[in-house]
Amino acid sequence: MTVVGNRSAEGTPPSGSWGRDGWAQPTHRPAPAHETEAETAVGAPRTTGTSFHEMWRGLAPIGRHAESGGYRRYAWTGADADCRAWFQAQAETRGLTYELDRNGNQWAWLGDPEAGDAIVTGSHLDSVPDGGAFDGPLGVVSSFAALDELRSGGAKLTKPLAIVNFGDEEGARFGLACAGSRLTAGQLDKDRAHALRDGDGITLPQAMDRAGYDPEAIGPDPERLARIGAFVELHIEQGRALADPADGTDTPVGVASAIWPHGRWRFDFHGEANHAGTTRLDDRRDPMLTYANTVLAARKKARIAGALATFGKVGVEPNGVNAIASLVRGWLDSRAPDEETLAAVVGEIERAAVERGQRDGVDVRVTRESFTPIVEFAHDLRDQLSGLLGGVPVLPTGAGHDAGILSASVPTAMLFVRNPTGVSHSPAETAGEDDCLAGVAALAQVLEGLACH
Ligand SMILES: [Zn+2]
Repeated sequence: MTVVGNRSAEGTPPSGSWGRDGWAQPTHRPAPAHETEAETAVGAPRTTGTSFHEMWRGLAPIGRHAESGGYRRYAWTGADADCRAWFQAQAETRGLTYELDRNGNQWAWLGDPEAGDAIVTGSHLDSVPDGGAFDGPLGVVSSFAALDELRSGGAKLTKPLAIVNFGDEEGARFGLACAGSRLTAGQLDKDRAHALRDGDGITLPQAMDRAGYDPEAIGPDPERLARIGAFVELHIEQGRALADPADGTDTPVGVASAIWPHGRWRFDFHGEANHAGTTRLDDRRDPMLTYANTVLAARKKARIAGALATFGKVGVEPNGVNAIASLVRGWLDSRAPDEETLAAVVGEIERAAVERGQRDGVDVRVTRESFTPIVEFAHDLRDQLSGLLGGVPVLPTGAGHDAGILSASVPTAMLFVRNPTGVSHSPAETAGEDDCLAGVAALAQVLEGLACH
């Protein structure tokens, strides 16, 4: 049994909102200075938010771009190193056992890391290009804050507890999301990882080596996963399901049920280049027309099926203002509640493209470039979390996470914190201060429920 100390949160309460650090926050509610954790019963909000605010302010300047206001924390860069140093300092300040695993993921342990049946929480600190402040860091900061809350309440843990920072979750630099957790779970092999290159042609091993890590050590880590009894990742919601009063789900925290299956398909529209000024309309084989109609069809088919379909990337040849295109290449990202619906929607979009192509004299070829099956989080754990939190909403998400990768190896669950605008992967991403603290309280409750019984 690990008895955690009766260590009160350090430092002084914040005197202003965290908006002054540029982390957009419209309102500030002062921390209730009269409230001490020891006086508050389990199940009630217990956090003063002090440790949360201190960590938030410490992390805020790292990797933030001065002009865009967004974050550029890419794997194995200087900003990444600063985030990692921050994590290690948080672990050491709390007297936790700090570990770096073979794949560069960071771990902070309370209790014996070798004991088994560990309860693990955490997320990631890297970002997409000009990403928001919350995607990833909210989970890591909330994990340390929740631990502080448990300690200040004198919780008695019967299991080891760990906080993890998974490396390269967003895949912003090498194009593959969740590299750290994939390597650990054996879903990315060493050869494929070593072949990854960034936009400057630097390979993953070169980048790791320059950052002071051993690229030869990377690979599956089943012994580590076998020591985990449950993994819970707290994350900002990347949609508006929790912020929709019409749905009756206008609550700060929810539990994830599943990650929608998703994939990427490349559509090649082959036409014929010709002069924009001399080629009669009837004589054209213009792939831009077919492409445009396919984009509209994708929207319509997805809406009817309750799915999502997005053409977010397009390439045109020869890409001249006064030339009819010879080739338009568009990438479809599609997601749906289940794999059958996803297959049906993509099939209908492809049929619509081919039919329209026949009218336009355009040849259409479709190639599936990636596919991720549905992730169903462990039902027992999901129900346990929902029960611990008094029946909060249980909702699916269309976004991928380290928790989705780990769910194939260990019982895994996710908590979502309300995002009022639903915007994510943008500097506009935000969450209310009260909601963040409600997330910390919920995570503390969940960890206590899992690690103290
Ligand atoms: Zn994330």
